[in-house]
Amino acid sequence: MDELPARGLPHDEVLRRMEALREGDADWRGGRTWSLVYHGGEAHEAFLKQAYGLYFAENGLNPMAFRSLRRFEADVVRITARLLGGGADAAGCMTSGGTESCMLAVKTARDRALARRRWPGTPELLAPASVHVAFGKACAYFGVKLVTAPLGRDFRVDVAAMRRRVNRRTIALVASAPPYPHGVVDPVEDLARIARRRGLPLHVDACLGGFMLPFVERLGHPVPPFDFRVPGVTSMSADLHKYGYAAKGASVILYRDLSWMEHQFFVSDSWPGGVFASPALLGTRPGGAIAAAWAALHAAGEDGYLRRAREAMETTRALVDGINTIPGLQVLGEPTMSVFAYRATDPAVNIYAVADRLEARGWHVDRLQRPDALHVMVSAAHTGLEDRYLGDLRDAVDEVRRDPALATSGAAATYGMISAVPLRGLVKRQVLRMMMELYGPSGRPLDVEAPRDDLASRAGLALVKLREAWRRRRG
Ligand SMILES: *Cc1c(COP(=O)(O)O)cnc(C)c1O
Repeated sequence: MDELPARGLPHDEVLRRMEALREGDADWRGGRTWSLVYHGGEAHEAFLKQAYGLYFAENGLNPMAFRSLRRFEADVVRITARLLGGGADAAGCMTSGGTESCMLAVKTARDRALARRRWPGTPELLAPASVHVAFGKACAYFGVKLVTAPLGRDFRVDVAAMRRRVNRRTIALVASAPPYPHGVVDPVEDLARIARRRGLPLHVDACLGGFMLPFVERLGHPVPPFDFRVPGVTSMSADLHKYGYAAKGASVILYRDLSWMEHQFFVSDSWPGGVFASPALLGTRPGGAIAAAWAALHAAGEDGYLRRAREAMETTRALVDGINTIPGLQVLGEPTMSVFAYRATDPAVNIYAVADRLEARGWHVDRLQRPDALHVMVSAAHTGLEDRYLGDLRDAVDEVRRDPALATSGAAATYGMISAVPLRGLVKRQVLRMMMELYGPSGRPLDVEAPRDDLASRAGLALVKLREAWRRRRG
C-alpha cells in the first residue's frame, strides 16, 4: 500500500483500509491509555469535529484574511490569561502545542537576554531536573545550555540548588505546574523570588496544569501559588489539547505583558515574497485547531471544567489510595492534581515487570526512570475504571513476585538494562539508530502485526545483544 495508486480509489475503500490499519492501536476510548489522548466523551468529540470542520481550510497565518480566527485566538488567550491570574496587560498567542509554547519561551528569554547586554559565553536556562524534555529540545535547537537542579525528597526542586546555579550566563528560570513525571508542583514562589532578585524571567510551564489547577483550586484542594498572581512569574504555557479538552494542535504561550513578548515576534522586510511577520514558530497555522479550542472553552464553561476536574480528582484519589495499600508499591510525593507516579519499595517487585504484566492485561503504560516508576495521568475518560486498574495492578504485582524471571524478560529486561548501562551515551546512540531505522527508506518496523513496544525497549534489546557479543569475545 506504499505506492501512489495509478488510479484513485473510491473514498469508502480508502476509509476501510484505514480502519483496518488502526486495529492494533492503543485503546484510548476504553480508557486504557494514561496519556496521549484526553477524551471528553463521544458527544464532546463529535462537537469538536464540527467546530474544527468549519475552519478545516482556513489558515491562521494571515490574521487579516480570516478575522474571525484572529478573534477566536484573542479570546482564547484572554480567557486563559484570566484563568491563570493574568492582568489586563497579559499578552500571548496560540501555538500548535506544549512543545512550541515551551520552545518559544526559551527563544524569547534568549533574545531578550542577548538584546540587553553582551553575553559572556553560552546562554544558560536553569530548570528543575523534572522539567519537560521540550526545554531540552528548545535548548538544543536554540544554542542554549540546559542547567538542571536536583529534586528534593518530596520531588519538588531543591530551591537552594537552583539559587546556587544562577550565574551571569543565566537567561531565565523555569518551574513546572506540575512537572510531567511526578505531578508535584514546583515551589513557584521561592523560585520567583530568586528570579526577581536577579532581574531574570521565570517561565511557569503549566502545559498540564493550566486548565486543571485553577479548577482544582476552586474545588478546595490545596494548590500552591503557581501563576501570574505570583510576582516574578513572567511567562506561562498551558495546553488546550490536554486538560482543555480541545482538538490536538492547541496550546497557549502567555506573557505578563508585551514588553516580555516583544522578543518572540519575527519580522522580515527583505524577503522577495513580501514583508513577513509571524508571532510563533509555524507558518501556516491550522484554523481548525484554533476554532475548536474556542469552541471547547465555550461549550464546557466554568461548570464543565469544574465537573471534569472533580471527576478526575476523585478517580485520582481512589487510585493513589489504592496503590498505596498494595504491599510493595508507593506513590511518589504528594501529587497536586491528577498526574502522579508510583514505584516499587520491595526489591522483589520489579516495577518494569509490573508494567509488562499490565500491558498483557490491555493497559498502555508509560515508564519513568530515575527513579524507576510507572506513570498515571487521569482524565475524565477514566471515571469508573479505578477498580479494574487496581485489580489488574494487584494481580500484576503478585505475578511478578511469584516469578522472578519476569524481571529479566520482556521490556523489563531492556529497561533494566538501560538504567544499568554506565555509559548513557551508548543508550543515546542506540535510540538514534532506532530512529534512523524508523524513518529511513526501509523503515517500516511498525507493521500492525509487530509486537507493541517502544523505541527505548528496542534500544535496550540492542544493548543486551551488544553486551552478549562483548562477553563472547572476552571468552
Ligand atoms: C505535554 C507537556 C509538554 C509538551 O507538550 P506537547 O503538547 O506534547 O508538545 C510540556 N510540558 C509539560 C509539563 C507537558 O506535560
